[in-house]
Formats: sequence, C-alpha cells, structure tokens
Amino acid sequence: MLHVANEDVKKAIGDAVKPQLIDGKFTMSEGGKTFKTYNPATGKVLAEVTESTAKDVDLAVAAARRALGGEWGKFKPFDRQAVLLRLADLIDKHYDDLILLDSLDLGCPITSGGPKKQRAIALLRYYAGMAVDIHGNTIQNSQAGEIFSYTLKEPVGVVGSIIPWNGPSGMAIWKLGPALAAGCTIVLKPAEQTPLSAIRIGELCLEAGIPAGVVNIVNGPGHIVGAAMASHPGIDKISFTGSTETGQAILRAAAGNIKKVTLELGGKSPNIVFDDADLDLAARGAAMAVFPNSGQICSAGTRLFVQRGIADKFVEKVAEVGNSLKIGNPLDTGTQIGPLVSEEQLTRVMSYIESGKSQGAVAVSGGERVTTGDLAGGYFVPPTVFANVQDDMKIAREEIFGPVISSFVFDTIDEVVERANATTYGLGSGVWTTNLSTAHKVSQRLQAGSVWVNCYQAMDAAVPFGGYKMSGNGRESGRDQIQDYLETKSIWISL
Ligand code: NAP
Ligand code: MG
Repeated sequence: MLHVANEDVKKAIGDAVKPQLIDGKFTMSEGGKTFKTYNPATGKVLAEVTESTAKDVDLAVAAARRALGGEWGKFKPFDRQAVLLRLADLIDKHYDDLILLDSLDLGCPITSGGPKKQRAIALLRYYAGMAVDIHGNTIQNSQAGEIFSYTLKEPVGVVGSIIPWNGPSGMAIWKLGPALAAGCTIVLKPAEQTPLSAIRIGELCLEAGIPAGVVNIVNGPGHIVGAAMASHPGIDKISFTGSTETGQAILRAAAGNIKKVTLELGGKSPNIVFDDADLDLAARGAAMAVFPNSGQICSAGTRLFVQRGIADKFVEKVAEVGNSLKIGNPLDTGTQIGPLVSEEQLTRVMSYIESGKSQGAVAVSGGERVTTGDLAGGYFVPPTVFANVQDDMKIAREEIFGPVISSFVFDTIDEVVERANATTYGLGSGVWTTNLSTAHKVSQRLQAGSVWVNCYQAMDAAVPFGGYKMSGNGRESGRDQIQDYLETKSIWISL
C-alpha cells in the first residue's frame, strides 16, 4: 500500500492564503477576512482561504459582464471548442493535483481519482463538440412567402454556479463545460468546506487560454457569498447543486431579476431487489450504490427494498460487502472508505443512526463511529446497514448523506413502486432483476430522473442526469443541457 508523501501534501497546499479569482487575477478580498479549511481525516487545519464579500461578488459579476462584451464575446464556436479541448488536456495532465486537493479537503480516497478524471475529461471534450453544434431553426410559419422566420441561439450571459462539497473538482468542471460551450461567463462559488481544487481549476482555465473575466471564483459562506450571487441583478442564470432547502432559498432570491435557475438537489433514492436477481451482483451493487464517498452522494440508493423471500439473507450479504471495505486514511492507496467531510456532517449522520436505533431499526453492520487507532481524530463512520426499517421512520424519509442503508421488505411490484415513489425526492433509483418485463415495467413507473437496472450510478457526459419532484429542476449532462445556457431569439424578415 502506498501513501502520498508529506512533502507532496505540503507542496500541494503551500503556506500562502488561498486567493479568489476575479478578472484573471488571483487576489485577496479587500475586507482581509479569511476562513479555514480542515482535513477531515485528522480534524486539523489544512489551509486558510480569503473570504470574499458581497463587494467581491459585485467585482466578479462586473468582470464577467465585461468579458461577455470583450475578447470572449468575439470567440467563434471553434475558438471555444479549442479552449475547452485545451482545458481537458490540462485537467488530464494535472489531475493528480486536483484529486490530492479533494482528497485532503473532502476526505475522498485518493484512488477514486481514476474514474473521476476520465469523467471530467470526457465531459469537457463532449461540450467542446457541442460548442460547434449550436444552432437555431428556420421555421416555415403560416405566413410563409410573405414573412420568413428563424431562431438564433445566444449565450444566456453571466452564470452564477454554486456547488456543494461532495465532489469539488468534478462538480466545478460539470458547471464549466456547458457554460463555456454556450459562450457564457461564470462566477463560481465552491463550498466553504472544500474550496482548494477550484482555485487550481481557475489557474488551468487561464493556462488554457480562456480570457480574463470569463471564469471567476469567489469563496466564502453560502448565506453571504452564495446569497449575494442568487440575488445579484447582474447574474442572468444560477446553476446550483446542493440541498433542497438551499435550492428553495435560491429560487426565492432569484425572483428579483427573474433569473433562469437550474437546480440539482437532494435525494432519498430507492434501490429495489427482486428475488430473481443475480444476488451476488445485486448485493455488491446495493453496497456500492451508497458507500463510496462515505455515502455523500446525492443519488445514493439509500432506501433498499428487498423482496420477502430473500430479504434476511440478502441484507446480510450487503452488510458483508460493507464490512469488507477498507476504512482508512484517504491518502493510502488501499483505502476504500474515507472520513465524512466535517465534524458537523459526522454529528448529523450519527444523530440519524441513533434515531434509527431508538425507533427500532436494527444495525446489521456499522452503526458506531470509529474511535480507535489512527482514525480516532477524523470523522470516520463505517458502512452501516439497517434492517427492520419502517416507512415512517426518520431514517426512511430524510436524506442522511452518510454511509447508511435503510432496508425494507416488500412483496409485490405494485406495492414496492408505490412505496418507492412515496417521497418528495426523485433523483436516482435502482432495479435488480433478471426478468426483462419487470425491469421495463418498474423503470417506467418509478418517479426519478435516473433508473439504473442491474447497475447503479452509471454516468456519462451524453446522458442527462437530474431530479423529478423536489430533487431539482433541469438536467446536467446530455445534449439538451446546453439549452439552459442559451437564449432563443426569433427573427422575422418581411419579404
Ligand atoms: P448546501 O448546504 O445546500 O450547500 C451547497 C452550496 O450552496 C454551498 O456552496 C453552500 O455554501 C451554498 N449555500 C448555502 N446557503 C446558501 C444560500 N442561502 N444561498 C446561496 N448559496 C448557499 O448543500 P451541501 O450540504 O453542501 O451538500 C449536500 C447536499 O447537496 C445534499 O442534499 C445532496 O443531495 C446535494 N447534492 C446534489 C447533487 C445533485 O446533482 N443532485 C450533487 C451533489 C450534492 P457553503 O457551504 O460554503 O456555506
Ligand atoms: Mg475540508
């Protein structure tokens, strides 16, 4: 097993206070305030970061607005494609920096970087292709011959992107790809818990030849910096990923100038296992639908519905998979489960686990914080599987955002579909069966933006991802997403 060397960590973090990026310059906020970011594997301070103010948001928005009318505004689609491809190459070259920063800041295992790197690069290259495929329509209207009409697509303008901590660099890249392809400019705010990789991505954007002011990065607390963005009259669109509660606050704040708002929010996704499933495959799938990233995954399949005949045995198998995952320092290459992101998240997850126990659910595995050995100072919670969960318990209804599976027993298709859909969320869902008809029938009836059959969490730049109901508004990835970054103009020419 390898461990990232201390010198590499020191080099990645450095001593300097981490800046914001406004108009192509890395600066400190004029207010001089800073905040700390912590390593959740040790609880110790990692770095200090400049805390942007509402005035910095004004400066960033002004820079983004100027950039729309400047050199960037004159970029042809092929020029935008070229910089996106260059950015993809740079991310490829420097991905080790990004995953190290995320691993330190968030606690995700360093080995999770491989697939994340491929996804990030593929996404930028996909949207690079999209940049040269933006077009309106010619419309043969009812007055054809007298008046001719066509549509043009134009960038929506300045985009405010607000992202959560559970996938810092991936999430930032997810927001940049379509916005840059469409010709928009951006003010990006990473989460306060995980700001480090965004700054590095900002450097790479400049190195890729993206002009100053096109990508701006501000740091600081959501209720100040994020709120200033959501209500800012100079921002035309907000692209938000985070909790449903914050999504609601953003919608309200965005009403002032009728911003376009797309939201990727929380979930409590059902994962349904029929008795005819390949049970080994399904057990591993059910565990890996939740436990990677310590369960801090928006579409995690946290409500596990198992058909009665196989329920007890199957839940035990899932618990076994959970128990087999190696918990440890995220910088060790053998580690599969790192810590939760913060003490606050630890308290939240443990309070859900306690509530599950006190309401009568049974922890078949996990259920206690790790308090011994090298991990005692960090925020480690082992994979936890609850049996005997009832639909009205707190752990059955609320998003925990930790490594916790709540399992339920069901009998029939109609019953399980009804129970799976009985939630305000609708992000992901899973179906495990070898019966083709069951697979299709259940997929069509689940109210969720993604249904994974005999797999979970498959993602691709070309396939839309997003939520039904209170899990969001709009989609990320896929051909249509770029429309959220474009305005449609109808032009009439009298002949
Ligand atoms: P969060 O508390 O909603 O925070 C998300 C972002 O919003 C952070 O940058 C936060 O800033 C900022 N923010 C907080 N209050 C704000 C306000 N009043 N106005 C504007 N911005 C504000 O969510 P989180 O706890 O970081 O992330 C976990 C949640 O995200 C979960 O519910 C999860 O399901 C969801 N999520 C969804 C997806 C998806 O694609 N659907 C993906 C990942 C996560 P600070 O943190 O710096 O204060
Ligand atoms: Mg941190």
